[in-house]
Amino acid sequence: MANLFRFVALTVILSCCHPALGSAEEVTVASSGILKTLDKNHPRLMLKDEDLKRLKELYAKDEVLQKCLRDVLKDADECADKRMLTYRKIGPRLLHISRECLHRIYALGLAYRWTGEQRYAEKAVENLLAVCAFEDWNPSHFLDTAEMSHAVGLGYDWLYSYLDMETRKKIRAGLVKNGLVPALSAYEKSWWPKSEHNWNQVCNGGMIVGALAIAESEPRYAEQIIISAIESLPRALKSYSPDGAWMEGPGYWSYATHYTAYGLTALQTALGTDFGLLQIEGLAESGNFPIYTSGPRGLYLNFADCGEKSSRRPMPCMFWLARTYDNSLYAQAEHAEIAKSDARAQHVVWYVPVPVTMPAAKELDRYFRGPVEIAVFRSAWDDPEALFVGVKAGYNQVNHGHLDLGNFELDALGVRWVRDLGSDNYNLPGYWDKRRGGRRWSYYRLNSKSHSVPLLDGEDQNPLATSRFTRFQTERSSAFVLVDLTSAYKNSANRVTRGVAMVGNRRAVLVQDEFDIEKPCEVVWAVTTDAKIDINEKDTAVLTLGARKLIARLLSPSATGFAIESAEQKAPQKTNKGLRRLIVRLPNTSGSLRVAILLSPVWKDKDVVATVPIKPLTQW
Ligand SMILES: [Zn+2]
Repeated sequence: MANLFRFVALTVILSCCHPALGSAEEVTVASSGILKTLDKNHPRLMLKDEDLKRLKELYAKDEVLQKCLRDVLKDADECADKRMLTYRKIGPRLLHISRECLHRIYALGLAYRWTGEQRYAEKAVENLLAVCAFEDWNPSHFLDTAEMSHAVGLGYDWLYSYLDMETRKKIRAGLVKNGLVPALSAYEKSWWPKSEHNWNQVCNGGMIVGALAIAESEPRYAEQIIISAIESLPRALKSYSPDGAWMEGPGYWSYATHYTAYGLTALQTALGTDFGLLQIEGLAESGNFPIYTSGPRGLYLNFADCGEKSSRRPMPCMFWLARTYDNSLYAQAEHAEIAKSDARAQHVVWYVPVPVTMPAAKELDRYFRGPVEIAVFRSAWDDPEALFVGVKAGYNQVNHGHLDLGNFELDALGVRWVRDLGSDNYNLPGYWDKRRGGRRWSYYRLNSKSHSVPLLDGEDQNPLATSRFTRFQTERSSAFVLVDLTSAYKNSANRVTRGVAMVGNRRAVLVQDEFDIEKPCEVVWAVTTDAKIDINEKDTAVLTLGARKLIARLLSPSATGFAIESAEQKAPQKTNKGLRRLIVRLPNTSGSLRVAILLSPVWKDKDVVATVPIKPLTQW
């Protein structure tokens, strides 16, 4: 990292010694420094004309690319029929309007550049002029400003030759007033340039595009924004280290990584350099994260404020990662997605053909290190009925985090049996107050009580807690992870450790928690499920989803049994209708305690793993 900072700093200093840019149409102020390599032609962002030409040659023989174009043109036709964008906030955000504008500009812009049909350009320009006339792009929630700057910058650049002088001037004026001016102030005063999460990449990436689009006309703004952005970006990009995981969960991985791709592609196409940012540890590996955190039916291992039941969808940034790092696994994975669903314009921008050589076989299990550790295990790839379990550790103060250290989710027989509920409404009062005692932790979906984690005396995990995996083993016959949860429960326990293992030849999952408790307290083991629950004998619960069944067996301790509770809540929180908790309550417990529960799907051959020997976690 230090090397990278030095490289960036050096590049900036060296660049400043170089002479100003040559003249280009509408240049108002000569630029210096970092813009010295600026490509003065348009389009220079994301997809240059020579790239477009190459794609058109490929198009003649690549059926998948032909399908992508059909999808984009269909999308552009729909965008052309939509009502004009208006300034309308939801809560404190204008973000949905910024995103809709971005979506339209990519689709309409590419449709115009591909077909030459003026109606697409015309519609794109109407949208651009509409948002440029907005009073602002809501800089108090800067994501909105950055995404709109991206949309307007891209539209200006891609449609440059179509636009007349007067229209160019209007769009530039809107982009400067509503985008670049607030950005300079934000780089000086706002918190997000120092942040390490999705805001960093989205705000920087969006502003890089906006600034480079009009850099020959507004070099002073562009220069300051680019310098600030390349200084700020490493703070977040290092969050991918070392294995490419994203601490804010798979949903925000997508948002953050798309904007990483936008920002770095724009730097490369417009300035010819990525300033060494592509070399940051973990970024090359990050395409593994959505692949491995998708369950057998594509449902993500859901943590942090991931959307409820969020699942893998087409993500053009996978093509960007595939081509940037020459990774056939990422390419193959994304091709599988666009075979099932529509491709987007960005798939065409970053298009990579189906790989000719097959990537190496994927591992069954994966351990992602980093600020939030993740372990995932499965019985097979390419079997939608396979057994899958994912476990998380990390720290509870992470952006968008829940009080969920040690949480796990389980899929089998094509459905999810144990699940995280996902995010709640971002506009609930105090949703972002994640301090100890903060209002965020009064919300069921965010606190420990909705998660499949232990509860001691009904208390939430410590909001400041951190946890690490202490062991990870991946063998065909023995695969497990141990997580030290002591810091989450330090009010009540001297030690809390959870083990999650694939057992019975990967046909069942054992969850084993061990406690060392000084003062007597109530220990609760629980999971949250959509399943109907029947408790036949006190130590056996049958979970049913449609025609599928999973049996939960309480192997330890013996003197107690399962109970069923509701996970429903009252509005304005999400109500979680029909959701239940399978629960074991152990009142007045002290000393050493081991809770071991076997989760056994009833497989198609009616085979069920009935029991497994219990060993202390230290002997796993
Ligand atoms: Zn959660």
